[in-house]
Amino acid sequence: MIGGPDISGLTSPESRLRVGELGAPLEDLPPFLRRAEHRLLIGGERPVGHELRPTKDPATGAELGIVCLAGPAEVDQAVRVARRAFTDVWSRLAPADRERLILRYADSVEAHTEELALIETLDNGMPLAAARGSVGRAVAHLRYNAGWATKISGETIAPSKPGREFFAYTLRQPVGVVAAIVPWNSPLAGAMLKISAALGAGCTVIVKPATETPLSALRLGELALDAGLPPGVVNVLPGEGAVVGQALAEHSGVAKVSFTGSTAVGQGIIHASANRIGRLTLELGGKSPDVVFDDVDVEKIVPQAAWAVFRNSGQICVAGSRLYVQAGIYDEFLERLVKFTRSLKVGNGLAQHTDVGPLITEHHTERVANHIARGVEDGARLLVGGERVKDEQRPSGQFITPAVFAEASPSMQIAREEVFGPVVVISRFETVEDAIERANDTNYGLAAGIWTENVSVAHHVAACVDAGMIWVNCYGEYDPALPFGGHKLSGYGAKSGHAAVLECTDLKTVVVKLAPPDAPL
Ligand code: NAP
Ligand code: MG
Repeated sequence: MIGGPDISGLTSPESRLRVGELGAPLEDLPPFLRRAEHRLLIGGERPVGHELRPTKDPATGAELGIVCLAGPAEVDQAVRVARRAFTDVWSRLAPADRERLILRYADSVEAHTEELALIETLDNGMPLAAARGSVGRAVAHLRYNAGWATKISGETIAPSKPGREFFAYTLRQPVGVVAAIVPWNSPLAGAMLKISAALGAGCTVIVKPATETPLSALRLGELALDAGLPPGVVNVLPGEGAVVGQALAEHSGVAKVSFTGSTAVGQGIIHASANRIGRLTLELGGKSPDVVFDDVDVEKIVPQAAWAVFRNSGQICVAGSRLYVQAGIYDEFLERLVKFTRSLKVGNGLAQHTDVGPLITEHHTERVANHIARGVEDGARLLVGGERVKDEQRPSGQFITPAVFAEASPSMQIAREEVFGPVVVISRFETVEDAIERANDTNYGLAAGIWTENVSVAHHVAACVDAGMIWVNCYGEYDPALPFGGHKLSGYGAKSGHAAVLECTDLKTVVVKLAPPDAPL
């Protein structure tokens, strides 16, 4: 490295070789993963930042590479560059040219599916099939939002009062620089939802990936350049949340922060952006209810309800972690759920038959284990799972077997707080109104599931449950066209659909006074 900090002590050839052991010889890994270091991406430049930190594979503890972290100076630089790219280049392009470039970007991401999926699995731990799904989702969002580039327009508005002679219209204009702050649980798709909405609206972006999982966002940034997006349109700044995230939220050159993460940090971002009245989209935590009525085919629904919470080791914001099952089928449902949960294979995301991968860090594993221990201590019944599993060969990996709790009272921590791990709490309910009351007994409002063949019940419960996303007879069904966002402590604003693009625009009203038609010209 020229002029940068010395990384020689940070990573040993042995630790990097262990990455190669996972499934492919080191030399078969994509060149990106063989790099000694991963620098920031600001415009077309690759600065080294002010600190270096290894990023690890949570399944093995192996170091994947050294990541350069940004500090306040790099935040300033990135905002300047993104701002210039916005005013001088990106916002001046004809919408059809922006659309064409975003579509090229989508093609490039799609062509790199295998590489990106491998990066995501190694850095985050999710099973490879899920990582491939994330890349597919990223591509779909890019293509969908590319279409909006040519379709954003205002409206004409007629005067409401008699005798008012004016012609009025609204303009929708891109806000400028969007800061995208992303958590570690779905790093690639999480970043791309924000990037694609911003690009479609005509904004430029600075992505701040989570410190634990910076690699896929950096690769997405490189692919944007390769696809011909002008330098500065997509910038990537790994760095600590309290430093880089905070500086972005406070920065007067950032027009909007699109944040996904915990409710506590989201509250801090509201404060950090308050002085400049910054625009925010906040996608925060959840403790989502999944309600099963007794007219369903139990055998068919049990695996779907289990996946609603255990997918990605339960590290999903929408996890259906409070499962309410109607009395008539409760016993059978519980028995089948325990059996299904016991059958899930926990292990390295690269292994072919892994259902549930590792948790992201030792610290987070400890946190999840504490939640489970507290549930037992409080008197809830742990029916299966909840054990920490160690791989003899790679003891640094961190795994917890999926856990089912029953007989938890609604006030227990395990039934109220977001665990963000593979843990579900199942309870019995009697009537439709009982189900609605229990479902709404939470400070969160992100998502909910409803399983029934009765359409009247389905629509009634959907209308009454206070959550941003309601799934009926499915769970976790996404589409780029669907708005997605929370209520209550789960935040506000949309991160997908047309609504997400509009949230990257300013609404401007233009009023043109007209002379009476018979006035002399
Ligand atoms: P987190 O601690 O809130 O971190 C999220 C992001 O914010 C990371 O990039 C983090 O950076 C950054 N950050 C931390 N402190 C910051 C600060 N003071 N100012 C600005 N940014 C800061 O959340 P997490 O533990 O990574 O993710 C899990 C949480 O995300 C869960 O609560 C989950 O429900 C939520 N989530 C919500 C959604 C949704 O759509 N509603 C989707 C996914 C996840 P560093 O990590 O580098 O410190
Ligand atoms: Mg990692």
